[in-house]
Amino acid sequence: MNLVERVRQTALEQPEKHAYHFLGRDTTYGEFEQSVGRFAAGLQRIGVEKGDHVALLLGNTPHFLISLYATMRIGATAIPVNPMYTQDEIAYIIQNGDVKTVIALDMLLPLVEVGVKVLPQVENYIICETGDGLSGKLNGLSNRAQEVTKSFSQILASTTESVDPIKVEEEDVAIILYTSGTTGYPKGAMLTHRNLYSNARDVGDYLGMTAEDRVIATLPVFHVFALTVVVNAPLLQGATVLLAPRFSPGEIYELAGSQKATVFAGVPTMYNFLYQYEGDAKQFKHLRLAVSGGAPLPIQVLQDFETKFKVKVSEGYGLSEASPVTCFNPLDRERKAGSIGMSILNVENKVVDENGTEVPIGEVGELIVRGPNVMKGYYKMPEETANAIRGEWLYTGDLATKDEDGYFYIVDRKKDMIIVGGFNVYPREVEEVLYTHPNVVEAAVVGFPDVNMGEAVHAYVVLKDGGASVDELQEFCAQRLVKYKVPNAIELLDELPKNSTGKILRRSLKEVLKAK
Ligand code: AMP
Repeated sequence: MNLVERVRQTALEQPEKHAYHFLGRDTTYGEFEQSVGRFAAGLQRIGVEKGDHVALLLGNTPHFLISLYATMRIGATAIPVNPMYTQDEIAYIIQNGDVKTVIALDMLLPLVEVGVKVLPQVENYIICETGDGLSGKLNGLSNRAQEVTKSFSQILASTTESVDPIKVEEEDVAIILYTSGTTGYPKGAMLTHRNLYSNARDVGDYLGMTAEDRVIATLPVFHVFALTVVVNAPLLQGATVLLAPRFSPGEIYELAGSQKATVFAGVPTMYNFLYQYEGDAKQFKHLRLAVSGGAPLPIQVLQDFETKFKVKVSEGYGLSEASPVTCFNPLDRERKAGSIGMSILNVENKVVDENGTEVPIGEVGELIVRGPNVMKGYYKMPEETANAIRGEWLYTGDLATKDEDGYFYIVDRKKDMIIVGGFNVYPREVEEVLYTHPNVVEAAVVGFPDVNMGEAVHAYVVLKDGGASVDELQEFCAQRLVKYKVPNAIELLDELPKNSTGKILRRSLKEVLKAK
């Protein structure tokens, strides 16, 4: 069984069931399956073959779902990419990922002209037109660019026939994900059909997802958290995906209320924005579950959200290389605030020392993971692969502890740890304290070089109206933290830099600090 087969089965069994909702329109599993089959046939007609690489530069629209499932259906490999990346970032992935076909939003049409000059291996650009179609817009392009450009609806309408799913092996690569900017230069994590299917199934089962669920998909679909938790897991269960083209708190309140959403998944900054937004919390009254992941959820934000929306928030953890989920707080047992929960079904997590030996309960070590969700490796990077996966175990680069009940806690990323005069400071600890200040909206802590202490603690803070002075904040921390953890410097900003998923980018802050 794989994702494509499973969705096809749902379409046969319940063709009238809604697969997804987008801007006021519902699409049934029967219609979705037909579009996927036809688009897959269209891809084959323009020469896309089993094993080819297809880049998807798309947002949260039906184009993404159809393109992804059609690509997998013909045994090709999809490479979801953030469409907001710069031309250089996109070109790097297309080149490194040996992409032959690009499916992109129409605002990326200018990319084709650049592509025909510098990316000769790309044979097709499929542009998802909006409004008046593509024809007028193609006129300005060179002949070569016009030759390689097709419109999405043209491909969809090029045949009325549907292709049957091509047989794939469990170990065949279904997608390659270039891991988010927070983890250094981009590496393509190869996720197999087995990886994707097992994680979607195991997360869905662990979170008790059923065909009755209506799941808000506002996390960007090109990121692995969205892909597994709000796209593949619901589709695998025959549930309904509520596509939100962007994250805007007002629109999410409206969508949740009008579509009777039962599940919300987001990164911590989304929880913060939804809480701060002055809307009617009753719009979320059908919500049975809210899940957070992708970055640490400050305990204060979790508690505020739960109080306002009267729904339990379950935090989980994952990374691109693990398709992504490895831990979640269970629904049938205690939910521990500040914890990423326990190992999900079929996945093992362990906290180890430098030699790979498990450390005692409560001690800090590196989190390592084993299971059917662990990637095949990094595309064309055997050395990095050997470094990341050792004896079946994936080394996450995150520091963690485990308690006596089997709950894990992320302490911080290994490389973000600050060493002040020989003492370890985990930025997250200091951020948690800052978040408990009533006038702090967001906080990020980084280390900076210090002649006497090696490193010192520097905090960036976004304040609510009413504010607080830097002295007050320092005093607030001093009352709650040992002296060496108290920020030496606090800088007030209007907002913190974030990546497309909404994760706060400590790295950018460090760079700014270094430049200063
Ligand atoms: P990505 O590959 O973009 O999904 O990033 C994965 C990284 O996000 C992990 O290695 C962690 O550093 C971080 N992360 C994900 N979930 C959590 C969480 N619940 N708490 C803390 N960090 C997290």
